[in-house]
Amino acid sequence: MAQETLYANGALYTVDAANPVAEAMLVRGDRIVAVGPWSSVRPQASADAEIIDLQGRFAMPAFIDSHVHFAWGSKYLDEVQLREAKTFGDVLARLKAYAQAHPGRTWIVGSEFSYGYPDLPEGGFHKSLLDQVVADRPVFFRSGMAHAAWVNSKAMELAGITRDTPDPQGGQIVRDESGEPTGWLKEKAWSQFETLAPQLSKSDLRAALLRAIKEANRLGLSRVQSAGMDDEAAPLLAEIFANDELSLRFTLSSIVNPDSNPEEVIARVSGWRNDLDADFLDGRVIKFFLDGVLESHTGFMPQGYADKPDETGTCLWKASAYNAAVSRAQQEGFQVWTHAIGTGAIEMALDAYGADGERSRQCRPRVEHCEIPTARDIERFAQIGAIASFQPAMIYPRDQWLGMEGLWEVRVGSESLPRAFPVRSILEAEGAVAFGTDWPIVDLNPLVGIRNAVLRQSRDHQPETGWVPEQRVTVAEALHAYTLGAAFAGHRENDEGSLAAGKLADFIVLSDDPLKVEPDKLADIRVLKTIVGGKSVWEEPTA
Ligand SMILES: [Zn+2]
Repeated sequence: MAQETLYANGALYTVDAANPVAEAMLVRGDRIVAVGPWSSVRPQASADAEIIDLQGRFAMPAFIDSHVHFAWGSKYLDEVQLREAKTFGDVLARLKAYAQAHPGRTWIVGSEFSYGYPDLPEGGFHKSLLDQVVADRPVFFRSGMAHAAWVNSKAMELAGITRDTPDPQGGQIVRDESGEPTGWLKEKAWSQFETLAPQLSKSDLRAALLRAIKEANRLGLSRVQSAGMDDEAAPLLAEIFANDELSLRFTLSSIVNPDSNPEEVIARVSGWRNDLDADFLDGRVIKFFLDGVLESHTGFMPQGYADKPDETGTCLWKASAYNAAVSRAQQEGFQVWTHAIGTGAIEMALDAYGADGERSRQCRPRVEHCEIPTARDIERFAQIGAIASFQPAMIYPRDQWLGMEGLWEVRVGSESLPRAFPVRSILEAEGAVAFGTDWPIVDLNPLVGIRNAVLRQSRDHQPETGWVPEQRVTVAEALHAYTLGAAFAGHRENDEGSLAAGKLADFIVLSDDPLKVEPDKLADIRVLKTIVGGKSVWEEPTA
């Protein structure tokens, strides 16, 4: 008989509408056997069940992140982590600490720094500032949203960039008045550094994945749905699973580009996915990209941009080819995710999904990001059975990308603002909503996104009344989108997302009750314990 654990004296928030709160839960092996009052759960346990007293603590289903880039995020954790830096001085301090801690690294790579540090020196991001900290090894830093890079003199030397190097197509080598490159490189001018900097070896990537899995467990995650770029990580995750070391469930997607043959991708993924244990590794997803992002005028906006009326952005697919590929993937039983940020891209995705009728409803196709749908399209999510996948930390991203938080509004214009990241409108139209992060682009901590979905306001209380406050959601709605909503968005709601008999025992114990704390403090709540499949995978060390 499998090990039994009886959790007693808890404040269990189940996210199960039939049984919203409970005090006790019985777990046998990796599944929940019973949830309810002590008097009804206790008799179902065997005499030798281990009893864990939750001491009145708040417990709930573990979080499911419906949009990450896990291999990329694992590498981010292995590099100089710059998103967390709030000042320019902190950026340099992080570089110094990393260089000292990693004497063997031939290149020092970091990403996700901001543009708007209050203490940014005059002259901006100059190679000499990096040279003062590290001169003997190349340093390569990518900016937040990856539009620019900042490198030191050694990196420029290894790339062979001099004052005589012309700007590449689609990029700019920024120069000072004398024509000397400054170390600041825009768009296509820095892509060569990605190939120059050495890639992680297989064993280093495996170690990075394991570290990232632990980090996800620490933040209360039991599953991540990874939105592509995991090709090199997938076999390693399968190996980690085979070694019984996998403590995070994965949904992996495979990308179909306009120039790839959908049949080939479908055939390749179909073969591979059959070998997976769906509880831990699931791969029934085809991902498409229809456009770029609004901040760089690449989101598809057929009506033009507010600050550039003639610019309509990028649409990567012809509608006929995209519709056919979506339909083929759904015929094969795949779930389709489409990166669609601009109005035109969202409309195109919903048109393709809608054209596939009942099959679409079964497959639950998703619109990833969904930043500015039309009023008509807000209604269409429920009508078609499509899911809106939001990354709430991006809604007003001042805490994530200091100085870039106002850019969205400049691009899209104030007229469309009421439909900006319209989480509330889609819920009110009875559409399904799932939350995630797009990690490592923003913080992986689900409570950071939950706070921002509820307040739409930065930690320093900007804007004062919240950004498009009519689209705020309640804490309960945000918790749902990060648990059962995300499980539904991954066809996993029968096994995950709520605390109910028969489901996997994936749950967390929190330091505070999110429904009772001041909303501003939501992101300060700590995960004390994470249980995945009945096993403890994170426990906060006692002081
Ligand atoms: Zn993404």
